[in-house]
Amino acid sequence: MYRELSKSGLALPSAERLADITCCPGGDTCQLGITSSRGLATALSKLFRNGRSQDADLKDLTIKISGCPNSCGQHHIADIGFYGGSKLVGGHQIPTYTMLLGGRIGAEGADYGKQILRVPAKKIPAVVEKLLDLYKSQKKENEKFRDFVNRVGFEDLKKSLEPYSALPDTLAKDFLSDWGYENEFKLALGKGECAA
Ligand code: SF4
Repeated sequence: MYRELSKSGLALPSAERLADITCCPGGDTCQLGITSSRGLATALSKLFRNGRSQDADLKDLTIKISGCPNSCGQHHIADIGFYGGSKLVGGHQIPTYTMLLGGRIGAEGADYGKQILRVPAKKIPAVVEKLLDLYKSQKKENEKFRDFVNRVGFEDLKKSLEPYSALPDTLAKDFLSDWGYENEFKLALGKGECAA
């Protein structure tokens, strides 16, 4: 069975590590979905399949993504969570994600992450890399991500990450499409229910 699954690309390394990102069906198939949470999850997991997922400081971090605020991707209980939205810029709709930090779930209970920033979809890998670099360089020994976020504080982290939320005056074509798509992003909600 393992050999057959491997042939279909279903035996990738990093299960239950940083690269093993949770996401909902998102706008690809969900009538309520705004952004392609699966497209973003694929882009991010590729970023971490270079061995970063095995980094002892990072391997237990969780990233979870929902394609709209409805939380089916469980973004609210992730170390780093995202939910999709859109923003009108210069007559174009841009896919965006609101980023939450410091959520968790465990035997001792759950805490919701706090919203910190809204970022264009195409800048998410860059903002995640910056955040992980900050964590690695500033964390104390054995300090969990959530504890790091609370110690450094949301305001200081926001200042460091805010440049990633900005859009250039002239939008590059890349910002106009969502992950996994080449055509321009259009908000297209349908009739029906959540697909999760
Ligand atoms: S309704 Fe649920 S499954 Fe659909 S995009 Fe929103 S969070 Fe994802």
